[in-house]
Amino acid sequence: MASCSGVSALSAPHPHVTGVRPNFIAGSWREGADALENVNPSDTRDIVGTYARASAHDVEDAVSAAKAAFPHWAQGPAGTRAEVLDAIGTEIIARKDELGDLLAREEGKTLPEAVAEALRAGQIFKYFSAESYRAEGATYRSLRPGVTLEVRREPLGVVGAITPWNFPLAIPAWKIAPALAFGNTVVFKPAGLVPGSAWALAEIIARAGLPAGAFNLLMGQGADVGAALAAHPDVAGVTFTGSTDVGRRMGAEIFARGGRMQLEMGGKNPLIVLDDADPDEATDLAIAGAFHSAGQRCTASSRLIVTGGIHDTFVEQMVEKMARLRVDDARKSGTDIGPVVSEPQRAIHLDYVHVGEREGAVRAIGGDILARATPGWYLSPALFTSARPDMRICREEIFGPIAAVIRAGTYEEALAVANDTDFGLSAGIVTKNRARIDHFLASVQAGMAQVNLPTAGMDFHAPFTGRKHSSFGPPEKGSECREFFTVAKVVHAAYGG
Ligand code: NAD
Repeated sequence: MASCSGVSALSAPHPHVTGVRPNFIAGSWREGADALENVNPSDTRDIVGTYARASAHDVEDAVSAAKAAFPHWAQGPAGTRAEVLDAIGTEIIARKDELGDLLAREEGKTLPEAVAEALRAGQIFKYFSAESYRAEGATYRSLRPGVTLEVRREPLGVVGAITPWNFPLAIPAWKIAPALAFGNTVVFKPAGLVPGSAWALAEIIARAGLPAGAFNLLMGQGADVGAALAAHPDVAGVTFTGSTDVGRRMGAEIFARGGRMQLEMGGKNPLIVLDDADPDEATDLAIAGAFHSAGQRCTASSRLIVTGGIHDTFVEQMVEKMARLRVDDARKSGTDIGPVVSEPQRAIHLDYVHVGEREGAVRAIGGDILARATPGWYLSPALFTSARPDMRICREEIFGPIAAVIRAGTYEEALAVANDTDFGLSAGIVTKNRARIDHFLASVQAGMAQVNLPTAGMDFHAPFTGRKHSSFGPPEKGSECREFFTVAKVVHAAYGG
């Protein structure tokens, strides 16, 4: 527990750990009228837990508690915020193996990936602990003698944090930590598929010394709980990560009611491989970017744009290496790729496999349902070749272990194909040619660019941002996210009277 001067420490009774895990509202654990079961995608006989489903009434109570807690938290000393966030980060890091195991069990990413994500969530809290101390605002020289001109940054108010299922600890961390660091109060709505990690995180936050109401957890489905939270007039800002469809629809409603928003959405990320690349390195990068976490990453390399001189070697090595990837239980030692997250997601992926074949792409490997010792949503990673940029498999986000190779004649053509997309999240290039790298970095239309690295995988303290249909609003993470979590107030003052 952090020692927090200046705030009334929360006296939350420790919640029941058997039975239904409750929501956290106004400093208390509250059972829902309804509950949802959380199923292990590696073994569908394994129920990870049962989690309360918030009602419209719970949304109302959580927002009103966050609103009531806001003035006190917003005006409290920076040291208090820093201590609370540091305590949360310390506990997450100390428990990263246990939290990672839970994450792998409920979401299906491999245990090493899941433990790394838990560690990253802890590091994010620690990073924003320090951000709490950073000087805010700016001063200008006024045109008028004796007038002080400053720009202050003030907290927004109540922030709604709505998160997807694919990073159940890291994405909530990079929304909740800065929201609190910059003096806002939070209502957190995790994805319905992964309440376990969200609940474990909330349980840590609940004991860290925040005033009652400063942080609230509402579990449940997007269409009811998420929509009600986003629409609430007392929610000053919504930080959302999820699909482009939901983000754009929800965003239109937030705009209409005058709310702020930060939307991180889908991707269709290109990895360009040029003739001078080392095929072994290029295929390792493509596999890491396209298939780790079963391709369920917004930054996954789903379009592999390969120039003619290396194309055939690249494809040959990809197929060889992909055949060796072990798809199995996420928590089994030696597993390279876990199951996909749910049956409906796998059905969508299989549909895209058929779409790709119907469109005339060649399925070089994968795309098959796999049977393992435990019943789960297993799918072999798929690679299409002879893909064209206008095919649906090259234009729509699949968000699963499916990638397409597009052959390009030249670097210029590869770049044009890379930019020919509605999305603009991450983009990568594999080459030793410095002039090409410089041109690529200046020309690629993406929020994040990677050179001789996978398109997925960013430093925890770096900003995260996209363009076109991938993002809306200021970046997440890093110091840059202050732009979203605070509002400017421009002050002209003649203090001398
Ligand atoms: P999703 O859009 O279905 O859901 C995201 C969140 O929004 C969930 O909490 C969901 O319950 C909630 N939600 C759903 N409908 C809602 C509504 N009408 N109003 C308010 N909230 C609602 O996305 P998902 O399936 O959970 O996640 C996959 C998507 O997330 C992919 O498109 C992926 O690219 C994207 N993603 C983006 C980033 C990024 O930073 N750009 C990172 C991870 C995932």
